[in-house]
Amino acid sequence: MAGDDFVSKLNMSIGEEMQKYGFTQRFIDEMVVPVMRFNYGQGVEMNAFVGAISYAWTESGVWAVAGGNKLVCNGLLNAAKAQFIQGTVTSVQEKVHSTKSGNTVKMYEISYVTDTGPGLDLYDIVVIATPLNKKLSNIEFVGFDPPIETLPKPYQQMVTTFVHGRINASFFGCSAPCQFPLLDILTTKNPKFFIHSISAASPVNPVPESDASKAVGLRVWKIFSPEVLTDEQLHQLFESYYAVKVRSWLAYPRYSPPEKIPSIKLHRAIYYLNGIEWAASAMEMSAISAKNVALLSYHQWYGKDDHIDQQDLAERLKSEL
Ligand SMILES: Cc1cc2nc3c(=O)[nH]c(=O)nc-3n(C[C@H](O)[C@H](O)[C@H](O)COP(=O)(O)OP(=O)(O)OC[C@H]3O[C@@H](n4cnc5c(N)ncnc54)[C@H](O)[C@@H]3O)c2cc1C
Repeated sequence: MAGDDFVSKLNMSIGEEMQKYGFTQRFIDEMVVPVMRFNYGQGVEMNAFVGAISYAWTESGVWAVAGGNKLVCNGLLNAAKAQFIQGTVTSVQEKVHSTKSGNTVKMYEISYVTDTGPGLDLYDIVVIATPLNKKLSNIEFVGFDPPIETLPKPYQQMVTTFVHGRINASFFGCSAPCQFPLLDILTTKNPKFFIHSISAASPVNPVPESDASKAVGLRVWKIFSPEVLTDEQLHQLFESYYAVKVRSWLAYPRYSPPEKIPSIKLHRAIYYLNGIEWAASAMEMSAISAKNVALLSYHQWYGKDDHIDQQDLAERLKSEL
């Protein structure tokens, strides 16, 4: 898929697209909506591209990183031998900088705050890798014309709740003893449902379950919900529970096609990765965006314009493979 196919998927909803291909409304409501709610906390009004990605997750064989996704970032940082400053960027401003040879060059001054206090550094190229939408990053772009502003479109709240407890199977219509193991429960769109999904969390490297846990049916459950769950709701979901961890996220764009993807290039040498999330928000998408920005900034920096937007590149890559 490329070009017009890609654009058309951003301009229509996954519901409309599936109807076009002949899927019934009932199939969409009962088989597709729950998957969209599970992955993105939204329904089939999302654009068809993110909808297709969301559905791909129903396939088995999606991978996970043993030890946590942060290990990928740690590994990349080590491999790049990058100097890493852990802090919060507060502002970006273009400055004219005098070189030792007496010339002047334009650079970007980045202000940030770390645990040890405020800092300031000059850079040739800036890559923004966090959403520039409201409440998400609070970076001020000072003195740019045209201005670089906070993006107006909202992100969707998603609350994750991890519970160590015994699920109340009868709440889900399965009276004890339940005939089949409850592992993943997805929900259709219904104002009565206060969760998007509940699923048994399975570690990448399975830890042997203690006999005591097995005997009483204790597991760690992961719940996605639009709001923080009340104690009363938790008591409906679980016969008993022992530990609860809650984390609220502004997780993904709130999709409403037709979708316009924010610009990748915000200024002469300021690039923006997270616009890709408006096509679909997923780790792989961020990785693709990062690779494209790395190539684009490199080619622009070295003036290799013939390497940018090569019309026949897709065809050439196909024949190379
Ligand atoms: C609950 C949940 C479940 C998900 N499940 C999946 C899944 O199963 N598979 C999948 O592919 N994707 C999943 N995603 C989506 C995935 O997490 C995102 O697509 C991915 O994290 C985007 O990566 P990113 O590096 O572009 O942005 P982020 O991961 O959002 O990273 C941005 C970073 O920038 C930092 N930051 C923000 N402001 C500043 C500042 N001013 N200065 C310095 N740093 C700043 C933030 O602290 C953050 O660390 C999930 C997301 C959520 C919330």
